[in-house]
Amino acid sequence: MMDKENQLTNELLTMRVRQISLDKFQRPFLHQAYWNYRLISTGGRFFPKDGHLDFNPRMAELPEFERIVLHELTHYHLFMQHRGYRHQDADFKATLKKVGGSRYAPTITNPKFTYQCENCGLLFYRQRKIKISKYRCGKCGGKLILQNKKEHL
Ligand SMILES: [Zn+2]
Ligand SMILES: [Zn+2]
Repeated sequence: MMDKENQLTNELLTMRVRQISLDKFQRPFLHQAYWNYRLISTGGRFFPKDGHLDFNPRMAELPEFERIVLHELTHYHLFMQHRGYRHQDADFKATLKKVGGSRYAPTITNPKFTYQCENCGLLFYRQRKIKISKYRCGKCGGKLILQNKKEHL
């Protein structure tokens, strides 16, 4: 089930992926991107069946997030061009390196700092302290608040 707010933020995510695709691949991303709240330690996923991408909302505010998008777009564009799009393929390795995509999802399973969105309640996990004035909730754009208690995924 998808509510209106979710559709909107999936739209914003898709727009961001489209922009990164044009900037770094000079190719359009013609499918949809979705926040997947069930992803725990995975940064993103590519679905060859229908071309859509899933992303982990817990990683949305990480500085590495763009590199996660680049990783999934590498799968996407190589698949669409009928080139080697799997991790072990030479095409994949070379393209990922060229665009600067991440090889591994950032570790957020044992975070030092937990932030919570004061609007929607979503939790964000960080190894380092962030300037909360500079970051916003990736789901709704709300303010983040540092939690005292450590939360585990
Ligand atoms: Zn991958
Ligand atoms: Zn929020």
